[in-house]
Amino acid sequence: MSRSEILFNNAQKHIPGGVNSPVRAFRGVGGTPLFFKHAEGAYVIDEDDKRYVDYVGSWGPMILGHAHPQVLDAVRRQLEHGLSYGAPTAMETEMAELVCALVPSMEMVRMVSSGTEATMSAIRLARGYTGRDSIIKFEGCYHGHSDSLLVKAGSGALTQGVPSSAGVPADFAKHTLTLPYNDIAAVEQTLGEVGQNVACIIVEPVAGNMNCVPPAPGFLEGLRALCDRHGVVLIFDEVMTGFRVALGGAQAHYGVTPDLSTFGKIVGGGMPVGCFGGKRAIMECIAPLGPVYQAGTLSGNPLAMAAGLTTLKLISRDGFHAELADYTTRMLAGLRERAAAAGIPFATTQVGGMFGLYFTDKAEITSFADVMACDAERFKRFFHLMLDGGVYLAPSAFEAGFTSIAHGATELALTLDAAERAFAALRQ
Ligand code: PLP
Repeated sequence: MSRSEILFNNAQKHIPGGVNSPVRAFRGVGGTPLFFKHAEGAYVIDEDDKRYVDYVGSWGPMILGHAHPQVLDAVRRQLEHGLSYGAPTAMETEMAELVCALVPSMEMVRMVSSGTEATMSAIRLARGYTGRDSIIKFEGCYHGHSDSLLVKAGSGALTQGVPSSAGVPADFAKHTLTLPYNDIAAVEQTLGEVGQNVACIIVEPVAGNMNCVPPAPGFLEGLRALCDRHGVVLIFDEVMTGFRVALGGAQAHYGVTPDLSTFGKIVGGGMPVGCFGGKRAIMECIAPLGPVYQAGTLSGNPLAMAAGLTTLKLISRDGFHAELADYTTRMLAGLRERAAAAGIPFATTQVGGMFGLYFTDKAEITSFADVMACDAERFKRFFHLMLDGGVYLAPSAFEAGFTSIAHGATELALTLDAAERAFAALRQ
C-alpha cells in the first residue's frame, strides 16, 4: 500500500470522505487521492516522494509557483509580529490601494477570508443596494457554497431555482434564477419579464468551474448593457480569473467594467483570503457606513495580507502575464499535436494562464451542454495516465487547469512526453 492509501484510509475515520473539500476525494476520476507533503516551484511532492508537474496550483492561487522565496520571507517577517490582531493594520490599506490600482472597476474594497465569503457578501450588498431579492446566475458557474448560490441550472429563460444541495431551503433557492452561460437572449428575455425584481447578475467572466469556457463575443458586453437598462448590479466573480487572465483580471482582458467584483485565490498568495469591491456608491452601503452587515474575525489577517501583497507586487512586473500565457499556449499546442498524432479527438481552451482539456471532436466549446457532451471516461483514463507520467491535472473533467510562472522548458518537456505516452495508451 502507498502512504497516500494508508493516509486516506485513516483520514476517512474522522473526516467525512477523508477530505476537507469534495473534489479532493478523486470521485471524479476514481482511485485514491494523493496526499502531498511538500511543494516547490512547478512541483508538488506526495507522501511517497513522487514529484509531479502541478497544473492545479492549489486550484489557482499559486501563480508564482509553490513556496516562492519572497512570499515565504514576507510571511516569516510578519510572523515575528503576531498572527492576528482583530484591529486595522497599515498593510490592509496598502492592499486596498493596490487592488484598486490594478483592477479597473475597483473604487473601494473589503477583505474577507475566502471566495465564498466574497460572493456571498457581494450578493447581500447588491440586494441591500437595490432593495430587490432575485439574482441571476449561469448554468455551470460556481460561486462558492453559500445557500443562494448552490442552485443548479434549469432549462428555459425563467427557471425557478431548484436547490442542488440538500439543506438549501426552497424559499432561498426560488430567488436564484439560473440561465444558460453565453446565452444573452435568455438574459434579455428574463430581465424583460422580471427585471424589476432582479438585484444582480453574477457571472464568471471566464467559466472555470465547468472546465474552462470563455465568454462568447458580446456576452459580457451584453450583460453590461442589460444591467444598465434594468438597474441591475453586474457582479464579475473573478475569484479564479482575477490577477490571472490579466493583471487587472477578466474585466481588463475583455474591457467590460462590472459594478462589483469578487476575488480570492491569487489575492491571498496561498493564504485564506478573498475580497469584494467596486463602485463607491454601492460599497458605501456596507457596515459601518451603511445598513448592509458584513464582518469577519480574521478579515485582513496580517499573515495573509503579507502573502497576498507580495504576490500581487511580484506579478505586477512587465511581461509576467504574457510569459504565463505563452507557456500555456505552447503546452496546449503540444498536447493537441500529440493527440492528433495518436488519432484522439481532443480540443483545448485557454484564456491567459487558465485552460481546459476536452475529449471531443467539437472544434469549439461554448456552453455547459458542450462540456457535458465530452468523453468524461476518456478524461479519467487520461488523468491517471498523466499521473503515472508525473503530471498532476485537476482530478475532474469539469475544472479549469492553471499554469504558474515557475513552469518552463523542463516542465513543458516532461508534460508533453507524459502526454505522448498517455495518448498512445488511450488509443489501445
Ligand atoms: N467563485 C469562483 C469562480 C470559484 O472558482 C471559487 C472556488 O473555486 C469560489 C468562488 C469559492 O471560493 P472559495 O473556495 O475560496 O470559497
